[in-house]
Amino acid sequence: MTKGTPSFGKRAHQVVHIRCRRCGRRAYHVRKKRCAACGFGESKKLRRYSWQTRPINRARRLR
Ligand SMILES: [Zn+2]
Repeated sequence: MTKGTPSFGKRAHQVVHIRCRRCGRRAYHVRKKRCAACGFGESKKLRRYSWQTRPINRARRLR
């Protein structure tokens, strides 16, 4: 077995992050049950920092 570039192809279809219910980004960690972008699942407050480039979108209520 090699641990280099050829074996990285095996990780390709593993689902790590799914669409976040709160911010809509594909950053919700399936196994850790928290969002890497907005902190959904670990805090009630929005995880946000001044240095972050992308603004966090709160999920808008659809109808
Ligand atoms: Zn989120």
